[in-house]
Amino acid sequence: MKDVLVIGGGVAGLVAARECAHLGLSVVVLEAAGTPGGAVAGHEVAGLPLDAGAESFAVRGNTVAAFIANLGLTAEIVEPNPAGAWLHLPAHRPGGAPVSVPLPKAGVLGIPGSPLAEDVRRAIGWSGALRAYADRLMPVLKIGREQSLGELVGKRMGTKVLERLVNPVAGGVYATAAADLEVDVVAPGLNRALTRSGSLSGAVTALRIAAPAGSAVRGLNGGMHRLVDALVADLGRYDVEIRTHTAATGLTPVDTPTGDGTAAPTRSWVVRLASPKNAESGDAAVADEPGTLEARHVILAVPAAVALGLLAPLGTEFAALAALDWPEPAAVELATLVLDAPALDAHPRGTGALVAEGTPGVTAKALTHVTAKWAWLDALTPPGRHVVRLSYGRAGAPVPTLGLSDDELAHLAVQDASAILGVDLTDSQVAGFARTLWADALSPATIGAPERIRRVRDVVETTPGLDVTGGWLSGTGLASVIPDALAAGIRVRRAVLDL
Ligand SMILES: Cc1cc2nc3c(=O)[nH]c(=O)nc-3n(C[C@H](O)[C@H](O)[C@H](O)COP(=O)(O)OP(=O)(O)OC[C@H]3O[C@@H](n4cnc5c(N)ncnc54)[C@H](O)[C@@H]3O)c2cc1C
Repeated sequence: MKDVLVIGGGVAGLVAARECAHLGLSVVVLEAAGTPGGAVAGHEVAGLPLDAGAESFAVRGNTVAAFIANLGLTAEIVEPNPAGAWLHLPAHRPGGAPVSVPLPKAGVLGIPGSPLAEDVRRAIGWSGALRAYADRLMPVLKIGREQSLGELVGKRMGTKVLERLVNPVAGGVYATAAADLEVDVVAPGLNRALTRSGSLSGAVTALRIAAPAGSAVRGLNGGMHRLVDALVADLGRYDVEIRTHTAATGLTPVDTPTGDGTAAPTRSWVVRLASPKNAESGDAAVADEPGTLEARHVILAVPAAVALGLLAPLGTEFAALAALDWPEPAAVELATLVLDAPALDAHPRGTGALVAEGTPGVTAKALTHVTAKWAWLDALTPPGRHVVRLSYGRAGAPVPTLGLSDDELAHLAVQDASAILGVDLTDSQVAGFARTLWADALSPATIGAPERIRRVRDVVETTPGLDVTGGWLSGTGLASVIPDALAAGIRVRRAVLDL
């Protein structure tokens, strides 16, 4: 019998496990895949240590930096190249060629703080900028909250801001169109600032002023996956067992009567285990080694579909959660290219580019020029060699690269990189290639998310010995995931101390 069983060894699970282990509780982490870390993973391409998933963290709230400091890694925090990213957009006029422009600086999720600024006009033209400026003159008709980010932006600033600025950013970060994103989740405080300042651009400016100086994101020297290495090492010091290749497939509460039967029974949980045959995909459906583990507390830290599937058999109120209107998880495929291309030494698109939907000639939705963004990687890379990472897949449509062979995807990525970076590149310049499919790692903060999440938390809160955390509840991104996982760990610690 363990004190705590954490199901899911992504960052959420590892952080919650650490919080419990530091109190001296016995903790086991179950991880379906062959390595812990979930979407914060590393891989080697052409001899270079790269991030295969998350590559940075938002500085908002200072929560990640504080956690990293606690792991003793503060000296390893690095800022990205301040050059910033670009936008790759359809032509301003029908029949013209696509245009590339720097992403306007003073914005939030692409919403401009200064609609008439030169960098905004380059992206949306004078007509778009004047329409966006009308936001300053419009009354705030409704004191309250707009739910849809897309509707809010479209109504106040017009379609050009929506389609050429906000949607590309929303697609890059959340793989979802702005119309489907819940404002309060993706831009906390924006609605309130809008009511106070009287305009959307005023609200954006207020949020920017309140934000810490410098870049909105940071990384780790050597890659974000070093966070997972540090977490795993720390868990090892506290004797936490991380069982990889082990998926939880079922969860049963066991109530044992205590003493003479007058006191409340003692609750524990029996978790059914399976070893997925396909460890890489963590596909628990093909189990070949059933077994069980028992613990007093269970923390679920798996993606939405897995968590809801494990919860559903626990009772009608749990089954009702699974029946809520959950969005399909957004799938993203990444194509990493290591290129011998001295023409990229000039960093033609800063740290990369976001591609507006419908831009002709490009299938990717974003490109990160990784060697331009992170100086630590550039220093490891021979002269003239570059790493670019392209991402494919927007919500509501199948990932366009799924049916492609590795050679076909590498070829498409080279073509897309050429178009986005404005530099002629050929397949013969490819020194390394890797593809990574993230099938269920992004749970978009779609409309209605806060209400669905509240219902999950309400039901779980009243279930002794059970807790739940992870990006699907906290919101995507380490700045949301880490504080939520810390809170789950603290709740379980408190529950144990109460016993
Ligand atoms: C491509 C990509 C890029 C990103 N970039 C950034 C970024 O730059 N900055 C940022 O802040 N965020 C980024 N994110 C988001 C961030 O990585 C996630 O929000 C965060 O890592 C989610 O952590 P998690 O532990 O909740 O979920 P996950 O990382 O999904 O972990 C869940 C774990 O549960 C395991 N699991 C599943 N089923 C079972 C089961 N039945 N039993 C046991 N284990 C199971 C999975 O294998 C997985 O390891 C990115 C995400 C992706 C996909």
